Amino acid sequence: MGYPHQPHAKETVVLSQYFGDPEARTYQGWVKRGGYAALRTALARKPAEIVEIVKESGLRGRGGAGFPTGLKWSFMPKEKSKPHYLCCNADESEPGTFKDREIMRWTPHGLIEACAIAQYAIQAEVTYIYIRGEFTEPLAIMQRALDEAYREGVLGANAMGTGKRLDMYLHRGAGAYICGEETALMNSIEGRRGNPRIRPPFPAAVGVFGMPTTINNVETLAAVPHILNRGAAWYKSLCLSNPKSTGTKLFSVCGHVRRPGNYEVTMGFPLKDLLYDLCGGMRGGRTLKACIPGGSSVPILNREETESCLLDYEGCATQGTMLGSGGVIVFDDSADMVYQIMRLARFYAHESCAQCTQCREGTAWVTKILQRILAGDGHQKDLDLLLDLSEQMTGKTICVLSDSCAAPVVSGIRKFRQEFEAYLTGARRPAGAGVAV
Ligand code: SF4
Repeated sequence: MGYPHQPHAKETVVLSQYFGDPEARTYQGWVKRGGYAALRTALARKPAEIVEIVKESGLRGRGGAGFPTGLKWSFMPKEKSKPHYLCCNADESEPGTFKDREIMRWTPHGLIEACAIAQYAIQAEVTYIYIRGEFTEPLAIMQRALDEAYREGVLGANAMGTGKRLDMYLHRGAGAYICGEETALMNSIEGRRGNPRIRPPFPAAVGVFGMPTTINNVETLAAVPHILNRGAAWYKSLCLSNPKSTGTKLFSVCGHVRRPGNYEVTMGFPLKDLLYDLCGGMRGGRTLKACIPGGSSVPILNREETESCLLDYEGCATQGTMLGSGGVIVFDDSADMVYQIMRLARFYAHESCAQCTQCREGTAWVTKILQRILAGDGHQKDLDLLLDLSEQMTGKTICVLSDSCAAPVVSGIRKFRQEFEAYLTGARRPAGAGVAV
């Protein structure tokens, strides 16, 4: 299958350079395009030097938290009395996000090279790439590339002839959203139920199999070979707004735009330009109503906020939301925001691991109350009840799934209250047959 679009002039193509180029998937094709040069460079240097280069580049985690990558690597113990592990988080289960899938589909050797560099930098002999259960095609492509990398001597007991051990395994998840949370992911690799763990201890001290572990997202790691090849200063120069947010970012755009898809832009790119220029604006001449810029778990923006938002960590925070995973969900003026928010809440209620009372009960009750409102049976006090419940669900649980459910509910009621009121006063007819609540 070909890649859906040719890069737009406003895109900054780094990670997506070979999307749509089937030859880049093979070992020979990857080497022809300069692949594995960065790994060779890395293996000739000291691990601490690689950590410093990545720190200097300003690269931050692309999975959602935005934590500085080099700093995270530096938390691993310097004295190696125990095995170290790298886990590559390829679970990508955040609704609206589909960019890691494309990195694996088109540049599997790029990800293997990136993991090998990170693995060497944190002095780990083994990497686990944890792939979302539904990613059948990316899994097959990654496995083929991994087999090739072993065959060509890139990986194994004597990686690239350097005498260093670099082993790598693919681990297929079983489809649970929560396994994208780093401690749940580690439990899942160990063969346990994918429940998040209480922190501390943090993974750099006690991670997978109780050993020091670093967990990085696919897109984060994929930037590392480019940083080694072209330098930290080059990566830092990719910045349109705030020097704390550097490099490029892949945004997965879905919803009511004319051209949904993955777009790679420099950090600080205006969200408005992404939606109107790159994605061609709203379908059918409609107007923009709302947008969730960072995957379903971040606060919703209204139209004015969307059109003022700059796509980097600070730009999103200024508008009261988060960059998250870069899954941009777009709603035009035909969207029923009460229904959309109920669907999000229902997803989180279904995916809660049920360890924490606030999450187990809160996500279920929020969903029930929203369904009651949609059915025309809501009460005036329901909006305050939803806000109160959301307050109890925020910042009080083992992981942030509970907060993720509360975020769209609170921001939705604040920004689209009149739509909720319309159901409560009877001005809007209940969602009828054909609308699955
Ligand atoms: Fe599980 Fe929810 Fe608690 Fe996270 S917040 S650990 S998903 S119950």
